[in-house]
Amino acid sequence: MNINQLVRNNILELQPYISFRDQNQFNAPILLDANESPFGEYNRYPDSTQMELKNKLADIKNVKPSQVAIGNGSDELIDLIIKIFCEPKKDSILMMDPSFAMYAFYASINENKVVKLELNEDFEILKEDFLRVAKDSQSKVFFLCSPNNPTGNTIDDIEFYIQNFDGIVVVDEAYIEFSNQQSSIELLKRYPNLIVLQTFSKAWGMAGARVGSAFASEYIINLINTVKAPYNVNSLSQKLALQKLDNLEEFEKQVEYIIKERSWLEKQFQNILCIKKIFPTQSNFFLIECKNAEKVYQNLLYNEILTSKRFPGIKNCIRINIGNRQQNTKLITLLKNIDV
Ligand SMILES: *Cc1c(COP(=O)(O)O)cnc(C)c1O
Repeated sequence: MNINQLVRNNILELQPYISFRDQNQFNAPILLDANESPFGEYNRYPDSTQMELKNKLADIKNVKPSQVAIGNGSDELIDLIIKIFCEPKKDSILMMDPSFAMYAFYASINENKVVKLELNEDFEILKEDFLRVAKDSQSKVFFLCSPNNPTGNTIDDIEFYIQNFDGIVVVDEAYIEFSNQQSSIELLKRYPNLIVLQTFSKAWGMAGARVGSAFASEYIINLINTVKAPYNVNSLSQKLALQKLDNLEEFEKQVEYIIKERSWLEKQFQNILCIKKIFPTQSNFFLIECKNAEKVYQNLLYNEILTSKRFPGIKNCIRINIGNRQQNTKLITLLKNIDV
């Protein structure tokens, strides 16, 4: 597959904005080149190439630093990917339904149609549906979310979709750390049309810092670096992410904690009357079908627990994410008291 044929012409012609300071190694401790203030701890522009962070991530993920792009959350990377490949008013994206709302949000801003691939009742993709819809729609980018939000399950046989899609496949791995699924990063060697997204917002506990990463071929990463805002990730966030990556032990402990709480909650949910069905999850949340979702939602909210019920495609469901033991215990106590 010739990836450059998928790229919008104006993007191919675009000259990246280059931070002069970042692209050259100067021996000049006195910086009078960028109209910054000489005062304060954060007076300098951040590294626009995010080199230290890329080097460290590349090391951990076993790819080259030139195969890593950093975004202001993976949300920004979703936006940039659509802008790179999808001609406004002409091209479409393909996404699973139900899945993460931001794909459709950014596609709409860019005036791209959103083609939805309906999942079956177990929230799996039917391969023959995929082949038909992909062919009919000629979509440029397919967003494959695994584990999927808001359903929580992983999608099997991801390689099949990469092989059989005539465009870019974005595998969104926002919840991969909580799952037993292998990251698709290892498939990058074989598929030039693959982009893998990960984020510091979930398992890494850094949603407030806005740091996400994309892994892909050097060619695609170059395109992302070309279209991104030069200073898209601030220096505080870059520093924080580096610190987190230096403390893998703490990270692993926290993920383990959440996974343990997930098993505990799953057991507790079994004996609760207002719950009709718990969907299998490989993430840090549960999608739960209730006998009366509105009632459960309102009751929890009245007792100071906010959950999520904004999923029009899935009837009578709420999404509850896993908290600490104290929060989870309170949740279970409240749920037990809801009389259907
Ligand atoms: C939360 C989430 C993200 C993360 O977005 P950030 O911008 O990195 O915070 C990406 N994809 C999915 C499916 C998510 O649920």
